[in-house]
This record gives sequence, structure tokens and C-alpha cells, in this order.
Amino acid sequence: MKQSQLFTKTRKEAPADETSKNAILLMRAGYIAKEMAGAYSYLPLGIRVVEKIKQIVREEMNAVDGQELIMTTLQRKELWEKTGRWDDSVVDVWFKSALKAGGEVGFGWSHEEPIGEMMKNYISSYKDLPISVYQFQTKLRNEMRAKSGIMRGREFIMKDMYSFSADETSHLAYYESVKPAYMKVFNRLGIGEDTFVTFAAGGAFTKFSHEFQTICDAGEDVTYLNKEKGIAINSEVLNDDTLKSLGVTRDELTETKTAEVGNIFNFGQQKAEDLGLMMKDANGENVPVWMGSYGIGVTRLMGVLVEKFADEKGIVWPESIAPFKVHLVGLNSDDAEVKDFTDGIYLSLKEKGVEVLYDDRDLRAGEKFADSDLLGIPYRVIVSKKSKEEGKFEVIARATGKVRLLTEEELYADFDNNENT
Ligand code: ATP
Ligand code: MG
Repeated sequence: MKQSQLFTKTRKEAPADETSKNAILLMRAGYIAKEMAGAYSYLPLGIRVVEKIKQIVREEMNAVDGQELIMTTLQRKELWEKTGRWDDSVVDVWFKSALKAGGEVGFGWSHEEPIGEMMKNYISSYKDLPISVYQFQTKLRNEMRAKSGIMRGREFIMKDMYSFSADETSHLAYYESVKPAYMKVFNRLGIGEDTFVTFAAGGAFTKFSHEFQTICDAGEDVTYLNKEKGIAINSEVLNDDTLKSLGVTRDELTETKTAEVGNIFNFGQQKAEDLGLMMKDANGENVPVWMGSYGIGVTRLMGVLVEKFADEKGIVWPESIAPFKVHLVGLNSDDAEVKDFTDGIYLSLKEKGVEVLYDDRDLRAGEKFADSDLLGIPYRVIVSKKSKEEGKFEVIARATGKVRLLTEEELYADFDNNENT
């Protein structure tokens, strides 16, 4: 993509009404635009990052036999009344509206109830199970505070997965298999070492649910961590009882600011019982289905990655989800020969399948470099009159600042082969 054709522009100044680092940097760089507090539009650069995060999540959910679907945002009041979750005093984030034809609707903040209801059409016997389904969906939540940029949206993208199992053994086995699947996602995003399976407030069936908490100063949660023992406890369940049951003492734990990037819930048979989602078991008896739910905050993750990796110059994307791999910065573009030469390198990189953003704008070098730092693309390749004459190109790694001088051949070989970069 040519930067001259990108309608978004970088901005030097932080937007006046924004205090969160992730939103400020993402807005300045042109990844997102703010509609109102907690509501952001994702622009061409931003969409590329979102889609890459989604693809990583998708691959790992497929690997645990998840089947992708998309459910509607509009939800029926009657359904949520069955489980006692329509009331605003029970669920405090509902957005609700009314149908012109009469009757209320809710905007989906989660989908356990509708998916459970829908599954009645497909599940009648233990032989129909196990089933696991997931979606990437725009959730709407009337969050009281929305001061963390895209880490807490009133509208945000979540991956939510739901499992349906025939008995406790297979249900628990599936639940446990999602933990390493989630850790694979976080490893691929470069935050695996800082992300911990955390004991948190439970569902109906179990004492605890499991959150995935990532160390992050901008996070809204407080987690008590013991890295050696691999134990993490959300402050909301830190008490004598919890410590005892997990075999740790308070002084072995370090208080740490974290962001919840995922959460998994074990409902046992309770949710299906409330909804009337029944199956015939092996003895021919009618019993409720075993259910679990598994969330990942896709856009929150994008914010966490900005918060964790950005430096004083701007965003630093992990390579796995960067909008482009290479930022090709053309200098001396007022010289037609240099411009032609740089165009040629752009086309060759593109032909080799390298994702490249080409800064072909007629600006001073300093401005281009500042923009490049702000955008955070992993490798900056500089093409100038000098590099054309000498046949050597500077390649600068955004994360480390490491500079290498490569010939044109080496350049192509390098970006053909991920391991060299
Ligand atoms: P929180 O305690 O941060 O409000 P939650 O417990 O309400 O989160 P879940 O309902 O379990 O979150 O949603 C699944 C995942 O969706 C969370 O782990 C988080 O990563 C993400 N998420 C939740 N609320 C938001 C939000 N308002 N904006 C962006 N992501 C969110
Ligand atoms: Mg919440």
C-alpha cells in the first residue's frame, strides 16, 4: 500500500479529550478514530491489526475443534428473563431498545443465552455432542467508565466460544484444553510470558472461574502473583479461604497491575437447566447439557499490545500482528530516477508477497522517520539517492533499533525468510 493513498494522516498532538496511552497513540497514528468515549472506529491500518489478531485466535480455536459462526446483536428479553439476567440490577451493562412493532430488545453484551437456546435445534442426544462454537462479535456494553481507550469500549470485538458436552469428564477435559489453546494465542502475540491463568470469581458450578491476566500498568485489575509457583489470584477473590485452598501464603504473592485479556467459565449443567437445553443421556434419561463459555477481548488485546510495547517515539507492533511487515521509506523522491528506483523496490517486495507500506510522500526525511516510529511497523527499509548509488539499504528493526546494511538481493532474501529478520 502506498502511504500517499492512505486517507488517514498522522497527528503530532494528542487528542484533547483522550487520556489513555493506547487510544492516544492509535489515534495519532491513524489506526482508530474516536466517535465518543468508549466508541472507536477502526480505520484501514487498524483493521489490518484487528484481522491479524482475529486470525491467530481463529486458528487456535479451530485447533480445539471450535466451529465459527456469527450470532445476531439483537436479543430477546424473554430469553434472558429465563436465566434471571434481563434485569438491570443483575446485569448493569445492558443497552436496551424497543421494537416499533412492540416489545423490548437487548443489544448483545454476551451470548450464552441465545446460543443455548439456538442449540436446542441441534442437540437432542448425547450422541450429538461434543460441540464447540465461537464467533467474533461486536459486543455492546453500557460501561460506567470508559477511560482506558480501546481496552474498555462500550462497543468492542470479543471472541466468545461456547462448549456443549455430554458428561462431566468430557466437559472438564474440554475446559482444560482451552487453557493451553489460549496461552498459544498469547504466546503468538508476544505476551505469553506476562500472561497468567488467574483464579477469579466463579460461575454457578465452580468456586473459581479462570481469567487470563496480562501484566500491564494500564490494566484495571489487580492480580496477586507468584511466578515460580505459577499461581495468580485476582484481588476480588483474595482471602484466607482462597490462599488456603491454593496452598500459598499472602507474603509469597506480589501485587501486580494487570489487564484481563480472556476469561473462561464452567457452568456445569446449571445454564442449560435454566434454559431448558436438554439431551437424552446414555441411559435414555433427559438431562441438561454441560456448558462452558470462553471469552477473549480482541480489541482489548490490541490496546494491551500498544500499552506494553510502545516507546517514547510511538507504537511497536509484534511482528505477528503488525499491519505491515516492512515500512519502505523513500527519500530524495524529488529526484525522478531515485523515485523510479524506489517504486521498483516496492513492486519487487510486493511481488515476493511481503506486506509493505510504502512512504512515497514528498516530505522531509525527519518527518517520514517520525511517522514511521509512530506507526510501529517492525522493519523500516530506507531507500535514498545514496543507497541507490551504493547498492546498500538500511534496514532498521523498530523494536530494538538494530540497523543492518543489506544489498538489494539480501533484502529480498531476508524478507522471504522470516528466520533471518
Ligand atoms: P471486565 O472485568 O474487564 O469488565 P468482564 O469480566 O466483564 O471484563 P467478560 O464478560 O468475561 O469480561 O468478557 C470476555 C473478555 O472480553 C474479557 O476477558 C475482556 O478481555 C473483554 N472485555 C470485556 N469487557 C470489555 C470492554 N468493555 N471493552 C473491551 N474488551 C472487553
Ligand atoms: Mg465487565
